[in-house]
Amino acid sequence: MPEMIEIEYYRAVAERTVGRVVAAVDAPDAWYLKGGTTARALRATLTGRTVTGTRRVGKLLMLDTDGPTLGLRFGMTGRLLVDGTGPIERLEYSSGREDPVWMRFALRFTGGGELRMVDPRRLGGVQLDPDTERLGTDALAVRLPAFRAALATSRAPVKAWLLDQSHIAGIGNLLADEILWRAGLDPARPGRTLAPDEVTQLHRQVQRTVRLLTKRGGSHTGDLQVARVRGATCPRDGAPLERRTIGGRTTYSCPLHQR
Ligand SMILES: [Zn+2]
Repeated sequence: MPEMIEIEYYRAVAERTVGRVVAAVDAPDAWYLKGGTTARALRATLTGRTVTGTRRVGKLLMLDTDGPTLGLRFGMTGRLLVDGTGPIERLEYSSGREDPVWMRFALRFTGGGELRMVDPRRLGGVQLDPDTERLGTDALAVRLPAFRAALATSRAPVKAWLLDQSHIAGIGNLLADEILWRAGLDPARPGRTLAPDEVTQLHRQVQRTVRLLTKRGGSHTGDLQVARVRGATCPRDGAPLERRTIGGRTTYSCPLHQR
């Protein structure tokens, strides 16, 4: 599943479209158009517009134009291709196969080239002027005082809190497990039970882990990733790992050093 790291790779690829003019909009899948928009509305508002920049908040990629902003969400299996190439050849949960019906949305540019969204499971979507009000601060941008204040009142397991995009945006299942494993925190602990130094450590590990895995090549490159199978042991201390469902997601953690 693409998490903020993968969306940042997509944003970098989407930068190649800055300065280009939209010649045509292909939106063959009405289900993929969100916020009440239609293929006709997208064609009317985007054709002739120039792409002026790209932004990312959490897992939301935004393409600014000299008209509206286009918001792109990638769900579980979405990928972005610009001029036929993308940053990631194989995502953790997506097949490397290409099927024409997986093409959900495309902008074609004057003078050739295109930006294309491919999404087998079609859990992503496209929206004009996406609402970012309910989205928390991006995980790389959130400062410690705000992080501490938000966590202090949370009764939810700390892993569920990390996954909730309204608190901090961008963290998915693989990143959350890796961050908590590195921070030495039990994913099931309610956020408000964390001591001040534990909150500091968690905040530090959010930023460090995102930066490290971005350099390594994706959300699936964490040290705990090799252990995401039944019967695996902790890469740090060799203890048998625990597998639970927390926040509705399969969770791997070490009962020895994650307390
Ligand atoms: Zn351990």
